[in-house]
Amino acid sequence: MITREPRGTQPPAPRPTPAWQQALASAIRDPEILLRRLGLAPDAVPGMQEADRLFRTRVPESYLARMQPGDPRDPLLLQALPRGEETHEQPGFVSDPVGDHDALAAPGLVHKYHGRVLLLTTGACAIHCRYCFRREFDYADHSPARDDWDAALAYIAGHQEIREVILSGGDPLALGDHRLARLAERLADIPHLQRLRIHTRLPVILPERVDAALLGWLGQGRLQHIMVLHANHPREFAAPADQALRRLAAAGVTLLNQAVLLAGINDDADTLAELQETGFHLGVLPYYLHQLDRTRGTAHFEVSAHRARALYRELHARLPGYLVPRLAREIPGEPGKTLLAPFPARE
Ligand code: SF4
Repeated sequence: MITREPRGTQPPAPRPTPAWQQALASAIRDPEILLRRLGLAPDAVPGMQEADRLFRTRVPESYLARMQPGDPRDPLLLQALPRGEETHEQPGFVSDPVGDHDALAAPGLVHKYHGRVLLLTTGACAIHCRYCFRREFDYADHSPARDDWDAALAYIAGHQEIREVILSGGDPLALGDHRLARLAERLADIPHLQRLRIHTRLPVILPERVDAALLGWLGQGRLQHIMVLHANHPREFAAPADQALRRLAAAGVTLLNQAVLLAGINDDADTLAELQETGFHLGVLPYYLHQLDRTRGTAHFEVSAHRARALYRELHARLPGYLVPRLAREIPGEPGKTLLAPFPARE
């Protein structure tokens, strides 16, 4: 006999998996496959497997499609491909170069700077950038249990001077929209908050993420929404990322970009100028050009301060002022990012 549950008591139907989550699930996780897909020899990079064991490869298909097949120096490939240099210890390169651990005010909440706090929402990302300053961050130990934001929200509610909450990670857009919209609602209930900033690489790396569900909650609510993207090379803004960024801009989201200055990837004035021009064409304003955070295993990406300032001067000479990002470095204990330019260089 079939027993029917009374009307209204059936469990809700499971939500269909969004296309972006399927794309994330099928990201490439093996560096040999990544090389083969680009027509490169799978054993061409010394130490690749050891480096991969330290920080696992992750590259979505849509990002792979923007790499140049057959080019082992492709600037997008170099950001994502493990290399033996990552296993080398270098003096001054440490696990937490920006002092996040020391600035934890509650589980998952970093309070470093006046008026704003950072919520570490997840350890997940769509790509594993080899130079990442949080590649060794212990998310399991320093994050709240799933969706338990009570302590972090109580801290924010108790600090009237906080005007802005920054969702960070990992990548906050690796979380589903239901959870993000709920978190945004709870933040909007704190009267002294004015802005919700989202630090994310997903619209660039996995443009499928910019779908109707994301635009739906981003386009509403009391708080102003700002998205700080992370693209280092102009080709990262190519299709399909261009359409994703146009959709975000059309939804009224303020779009900024921060880039990291990376040896062999964007440490030339032509590339940096094109990055700013291409971004602006899509509605993205330059924000920061960061000197590399000195994370263990990333020394081969570092560009000297002298070279960085020379590049900055060249950008300043070529571009209108609003297209020149601030050249900055994060120094633990400082009240904000330390600007290396436009202040006059004393070298
Ligand atoms: S997306 Fe950001 S947090 Fe994630 S690996 Fe890249 S740099 Fe690190």
